[in-house]
Amino acid sequence: MNINKLLSGISDCVCGKKHTCTIDYVEIGEGALNILPEICRDYKHILLVADCNTYKAAGEAAYAHLTDKINKKLILGDKGELLIPDEKALDTIRSSVSDETDLILGVGSGVINDLCKEVSFENNLPYYIIATAPSMDGYASVGSALILGGMKITMNARPPKAIIADSEVIRNAPMDMIRAGYGDIIGKFSCLSDWKLAALLRNEYFCPTVYELTLNTAKEVRSLANKISERDGEAISALMEALVAVGIAMAYVGNSRPASGCEHHLSHYFEITGILNSEDYFAHGIDVGFSAVKCAQIREKMLSIAPVKRDFDKEKWLSEIKRIYSTSADGVIALQEQLGWYEEDDSDTVAAKWNEICEILKEVPTASEFISMLSEVGLNYSDFEELYGKKKVDDAILYAKDLKDRYTILWLYYTYFREEH
Ligand SMILES: [Zn+2]
Ligand SMILES: [Zn+2]
Repeated sequence: MNINKLLSGISDCVCGKKHTCTIDYVEIGEGALNILPEICRDYKHILLVADCNTYKAAGEAAYAHLTDKINKKLILGDKGELLIPDEKALDTIRSSVSDETDLILGVGSGVINDLCKEVSFENNLPYYIIATAPSMDGYASVGSALILGGMKITMNARPPKAIIADSEVIRNAPMDMIRAGYGDIIGKFSCLSDWKLAALLRNEYFCPTVYELTLNTAKEVRSLANKISERDGEAISALMEALVAVGIAMAYVGNSRPASGCEHHLSHYFEITGILNSEDYFAHGIDVGFSAVKCAQIREKMLSIAPVKRDFDKEKWLSEIKRIYSTSADGVIALQEQLGWYEEDDSDTVAAKWNEICEILKEVPTASEFISMLSEVGLNYSDFEELYGKKKVDDAILYAKDLKDRYTILWLYYTYFREEH
């Protein structure tokens, strides 16, 4: 994959859109940090943000390259507490930004990236990230995923100007973080199908070029599963490039369609209900990989029986949403009332297009294929069933969709295939 080619965008895409990307540099591979002096030449007052683990992994080396330009070094979570991207962590970084600060340099993975992305956006400062783990596809994305008021909220921000990852650093990341990045990519087989479905049934914008780009990226990562689990430097770099490429794909289309569908909605459900009820949940990408199996099972079920419209019982739906989302239920209900999809009847369209729908559903790997893709990197699907149990997974299938305003197979399933219980 040629990431640098992606950075220059696509000016005359078949979809009619001009695809652009605001990232200036992506450097992934051996000795990637050597690029720092050159790309930081115009900055004199850099704020470096890391946590104690990521500082050891790559922060020290970055500091050595830029000693005279770094005017503050902020190491979060150094008292051993778990770092979460919340108000407290944001305030700590905000208070380290001075009038002189001209660049924020984050060193870390998901949490550090989201925090630095947000604070740099608020202060209208450029931002670079030195990645320490190939753990998720948010490095290049526009939004910052934060936990505010106890809820997961994606704030509109800006991608970093540079993404740097030394293969020696990322291949030595904790294995579960590598598995999470792999799971996040494997999930693209699932969300790409939802994108096609939404284009067919809801006339959503669709770009075949970005679709192919993302699909090929997922296929490449899938072919490297064994090497990834062996921490092979080149394979881990390819995984990291894939994660960045998917972020660029989102920037190209202006939303997260190429990267997030039903499998992400399930993963968000487990995370949000986990936060609400103080229950355990898997790291994002691991949840995504496992949820892709569950979504594949739903597709298989839909392919095996004919669609029959189910009645919508609003009273029952309201009580279920209140049961599941407790303190957050009002927001979920308001979102769906504004969206109005429960009041719509698309049964004529679904019936007329059923053969085309089936073709789309069939393109996705089967549940057993997903299970073996995951097992190649040491992820056992039984761990997912064991952690969440049948009831929680069944609830997720019916009600995860209500967290979003996005059409996926979860809507198709709820409207035409759900089993009443
Ligand atoms: Zn396009
Ligand atoms: Zn993801």
